[in-house]
Amino acid sequence: MSDTGRRFSVDYAEARERFREATREHEAGTIDLGDDLGIDWAWVGPADAARVLLYTSGLHGIEGFGGGAAQLETLELGSDVATMYVHGLNPYGWRHLRRVNENNVDLNRNFLLDGQQYAGAPAAYARLDGLLNPATAPGGIDLFWLHAAWAMATQGYGAMRNAIVSGQYEFDRGLFFGGKQMEAGPRAVAKLLVERLSCRERVVHVDWHSALGQYGDRTVLLESSVDASAAARVRRVMGEGVRTWDANDASAYAIRGGMTAFLQAKLPGVRYDGLTCEFGTQPNLQVLAGLRAENRLHHWGTAHPDHPAKAAMRAAFAPREARWEAAVLGHAREMHVLCHALIDA
Ligand SMILES: [Zn+2]
Repeated sequence: MSDTGRRFSVDYAEARERFREATREHEAGTIDLGDDLGIDWAWVGPADAARVLLYTSGLHGIEGFGGGAAQLETLELGSDVATMYVHGLNPYGWRHLRRVNENNVDLNRNFLLDGQQYAGAPAAYARLDGLLNPATAPGGIDLFWLHAAWAMATQGYGAMRNAIVSGQYEFDRGLFFGGKQMEAGPRAVAKLLVERLSCRERVVHVDWHSALGQYGDRTVLLESSVDASAAARVRRVMGEGVRTWDANDASAYAIRGGMTAFLQAKLPGVRYDGLTCEFGTQPNLQVLAGLRAENRLHHWGTAHPDHPAKAAMRAAFAPREARWEAAVLGHAREMHVLCHALIDA
């Protein structure tokens, strides 16, 4: 079997089996979510290490295909630094080829900080709700592209994209819905990570994602709340191409409720660098069209794995192409080396 064949699984169940097999000689555990769904984790290296690498994946369900493969690749490379792996943070979404969880919640908008409310939506999102989230099954004549072009022309692409993807807490069947409370999976993961990491001196965290960026490229992102000296430290090691989640950045955007910002706040005594690493697939609007069709199917149609909307999700978040899969594994190897340099920085 080729390297990519051993790393990339056909479905969530196979990926989970492989992760468990690859970590069976290490300390490991599962956050059981019922219905054969669980968040598996493992700790590789000394339990009392002062410096820890953290790899997490699948926060966006279907994006676990790439992130899970990256985890297996780094597991085999090994490390002289203690490494914690958390696999499949959103197992429901991964199993059902969705980006969101069982309550239609985008989990990377669900980690609100103390004092933030699970309420509100950007005004422009509310105006676009009918375009983004039609209350009908996909199919027939679809004027989405025409409407999207009109919205871009009249509202500006950057402004529109930010309004759509930054997170909203009002439209519970809509895209980028951040939830009405912290969801069960994130709650349990947050507890586990704070317990395991709050006593460390240094943590470098990579949360693997896919879709953003050019096909086969990688984009490394920092939360916009990261202070300038920490951003400079990361850029010294990872290069000037490291971006922040920023409303003014042409290739990124600002988000609310992100996991790495949450951990940064909850690990105050730790020198923590939380990186989001994206494996690029398709242009943004094409990804958005795929998300929109699948969301309509889920809420207003009859979802089944062979529906074209599910194939489009695969193409947008985990293309089954050797070139893409090989690129992901290459990025995982390079990031693994860079993270070792960063942990010393
Ligand atoms: Zn993602």
